[in-house]
Parts: sequence; structure tokens; C-alpha cells
Amino acid sequence: MKYVVIIPDGAADEPIPALNNKTIIEAANIPCLNKLAGLGQIGVAHNVPKNLPAGSDVANLSVLGCNPTLYYTGRAPLEAAALGLKLGPNDWVVRCNMTTIIDQYMRSFSAGQISSEEQHELLTALQDAVIGDYPPGALEFISGVGYRGLLILREVPGFTVPLSQNTRTFAPHDYTDQRVWHVGPQGAGGELLLELMDKSIDVFANHPVNKKRIEQGKPPATNVWLWGQGQMPVIPSFKETYGKTGAMITAVDLLRGIANSIGFDNIIVPGATGFIDTNFSGKAAAAIEALKTHDVVCVHLEATDESGHEGSVEHKIQSMENIDSKVVAPIWEALSSSGEPFRMFVTPDHPTPIRTKTHSYDTVPWLMVGTGVPACGAASYNEKAAAQTGQYREEGWKLMGELLS
Ligand SMILES: [Zn+2]
Repeated sequence: MKYVVIIPDGAADEPIPALNNKTIIEAANIPCLNKLAGLGQIGVAHNVPKNLPAGSDVANLSVLGCNPTLYYTGRAPLEAAALGLKLGPNDWVVRCNMTTIIDQYMRSFSAGQISSEEQHELLTALQDAVIGDYPPGALEFISGVGYRGLLILREVPGFTVPLSQNTRTFAPHDYTDQRVWHVGPQGAGGELLLELMDKSIDVFANHPVNKKRIEQGKPPATNVWLWGQGQMPVIPSFKETYGKTGAMITAVDLLRGIANSIGFDNIIVPGATGFIDTNFSGKAAAAIEALKTHDVVCVHLEATDESGHEGSVEHKIQSMENIDSKVVAPIWEALSSSGEPFRMFVTPDHPTPIRTKTHSYDTVPWLMVGTGVPACGAASYNEKAAAQTGQYREEGWKLMGELLS
């Protein structure tokens, strides 16, 4: 049996007054998903437990059948896993944003979408400035894409990482245009993190990168903001848990990190951008190809989530329609005509409602269809139709077991 998992990230939404109280999925023209709803089972599930952040990290662990309560250790560790970084059991990873803070107000959590090159220069300068204060190897700044970097804290002779479960940090994107003097790192190791943030203020103040940005009328990166800390998760591989091999198709680092953590192969598709202009058809073709060599293939599409953050009804509907016609339909077509047994599982990870432009804890509608799955006869696939079947799963991560059973 072959299995394909399709994740329209953040696609679930609320009834929208401008759409006559239809949701995005309901308003979108998605004939293939609507047909499959009737041929299979639909229902709703919670992918994010109340005590964890409602992020793509937690929610996608659930979709891939990992209990986030057991295995979620923070966003930064999954991003480190995406880079293939190996860390010891006493090492920690901290997310390191470039931010713009002026007169104690968070003016940009991305330092005006600073470029990867600029970020790299600034982080190198910071690393050079602090490296002498700690034993060799204890601290390492790693630049990522755009404003996103990581700080690795390693246990080495003479240095024990002071962070613990009691360390508290705050996501900078939650404080846009707010005063932030009171939301610096707190608790165990908070002092060390604050010290590094303070140090970056001095290092960045007269740095050539910032001088140039100011000349160009762009916001300077005034400092690093440290948050999202965690230790590397020890997640049993998907093969160990479910006895199946798998592959991931995504444009997003975080998802690649999750894939690496569970032993999935990452398949890179040219033109996969994570935005509305992504190569939808290329991803579908890559999935059909990957199913020849893997038991489970997961196709993750970020465009629906980005449109939600943007607050664009039009883009979100268009993204959903593209997913239906260019991803779900061709994969369904290929699998049905193959003559081999297969199942398809479609589910958003979490809602990203247009109204709030951010992730929510609400349920998501799921669809399971294929060999051996009884037909429920539903007329359409959307939040309301899925809720009406009474197929509610409080722990969304258990659906993977149902899919594979
Ligand atoms: Zn997401």
C-alpha cells in the first residue's frame, strides 16, 4: 500500500462575512476534494495541544504522527535539524532574529526583512566580539535565511549551558510596535542571553552594514533577539514507529527539519517557493515519482498559510484552488490509474484565519480516502461538512496510525 499526505498549511479558517459566512475552503472551487470527501471519510482534529504554541512546528509533528506533547522541544531545534546540525544531549539551540528596536519599541522583528548576506556579516561580527569571553566551542552563531539565525550553546570543558525548562523567552513577532523592555529572556540562563543581546547593540551600532541600510532608508538591525530555545528532540524514526519509509516535499526549512528528525528523505523541487507562485504541478509530479521508492510521501504547501498571514481572501482562495487542481487531482488520477492499493490523507496543520492573520488552536478538517476506506457520502470537503460527520479527534497525531492501519 502507498500513502500520500497533502498538507495545505494554514488553510483552515473561520466563516468570513465578506464570503457570506463561508470559509475559504468552502468558497473555493475545489471539485476534486469535494468529490473525494464523499468517497472517503472526513472529520475534524486538534493538532496543537493547548499547552504548546500554535505553530507549524507543533502542528506538523502531529500531522506526521508524532505526539507533540512527547517530542516537541522548541522551534529552534527543528530549524537546526533542517540544517543537518548534530548536537549533544546537553547542548541547546536558540533562535536568533535580527530585529529593529528603537527607543525600546519593536519596530521590526525581521530588521526590515534584512538579507541573508547582511545577516551573515553582522552575526560574524558578533561572533568575533564575544568568542574570547567563553571557552572554545561554547558559543556559535549560525546564519540562516534572511533575518533568521541560530545560536548554538554547547557543553564544553569549562562551560555548562545554563538554560533549562525554566528559561522563558518571547517571540519578537508577537510584539510588533510594542515596548519590549520587559520581555527579554528570563529565568535560567536569561542573563547570558540578555548579555549577548546587549553585546549585539554595541557591535551593530556602527557596523558598515547598518550605515549602508540607514543611507538607503532601510531600518537598521539594532540587535539580535534570542528566543525559541530548546534541545534537540529525540524522535524515533517514522520507520521505527510505523514500519514505513517516507519522503517530504516542501519549500520550508522547518518542515525539512521535521523530515530529517523522523528519517524522511527530503526531495527538493525546483520552483517550490512557499508562496502563491510556487510550482504546484512540479510538487505533484515529484510526489508521484517519489511514491515509486517510498511508502509514504508528504506534500506540504505553504501558500495557503502565507495568504492567511497576509490577510488576503483572494490569494488564499486561489492557493486552495491551485492545490485542488494542480496537486490533489493529478496525484489522485495517477494513483487511481496505477491499479495498486493506495490511500490519500489531506489535512491543514492548523488554521491561519484571515481575521487574525495568525495561527489558531482550532480544529482542522481532514480527509482520508482510498483503498479500504469506507465512503461517507459527504457532499463537500470543508470545516463545516467535516464537523457534521461527528468524526472528531482530540489528538490529531493519532490519525497517522489510522491512515496506516
Ligand atoms: Zn503551518
